[in-house]
Amino acid sequence: MARNRSESVKKPESDRQHETKKRKCLMCAQSFSSAWPGERICPSCKQTQAWSDGHGMAA
Ligand SMILES: [Zn+2]
Repeated sequence: MARNRSESVKKPESDRQHETKKRKCLMCAQSFSSAWPGERICPSCKQTQAWSDGHGMAA
């Protein structure tokens, strides 16, 4: 029995969307909700440290 697949339209929602997950900040070790997998610094530390692109790897 072939069903009409056009009926089962998937939602415009990908499985690999940026999820907000609880992560530990690398700076203050406090748990915060990161907006994306690469987010490792909490917003508070970002403000204090003034994190900018290409300026965070220099120790
Ligand atoms: Zn922090």
